[in-house]
Amino acid sequence: MSLDGVYDPNNIFAKILRSEAPAAKVFEDDHVVAFMDVFPQSRGHTLVIPKHSQARNLLEVEPEILSAMILGVQRVTKAVRAALKPDGVMVAQFNGASAGQTVYHLHFHIIPRWEGDAVRGHASGAMADMGELAVLAKQIAAMIS
Ligand code: AMP
Repeated sequence: MSLDGVYDPNNIFAKILRSEAPAAKVFEDDHVVAFMDVFPQSRGHTLVIPKHSQARNLLEVEPEILSAMILGVQRVTKAVRAALKPDGVMVAQFNGASAGQTVYHLHFHIIPRWEGDAVRGHASGAMADMGELAVLAKQIAAMIS
């Protein structure tokens, strides 16, 4: 999919928002939902999505929604740090298939990094165990402030 296109209301993140698909939820407020990535690139890989936008990518999102969203990203990133004590945190966002985007509902990736640990492949490999993701989600949720 290119940068241009039409929002698909049946994309997997829209289904998670409507509780039609499962997710290990970390945090939710009026603006965003955060949940664990099921193909984590590192332990604690978390996604943040807007609740009230049909933006497929960063270029389409309404400025006021982006503003609220990035505050949510910062808040969850701080909680990931407090819970998992990584050496660094990568915050990433992809626009268009050529850039690596695979789900067309705007989202930010929060990927904790540890010295010497390689990041795993993007949106690939084995699906994580939902029980383990639920434990991580709970640990991170406990550190939301
Ligand atoms: P992107 O490729 O930037 O669009 O990111 C989409 C991300 O969503 C990838 O990292 C996938 O591993 C992840 N993903 C796909 N399906 C699900 C799902 N059902 N629950 C959680 N994460 C998902």
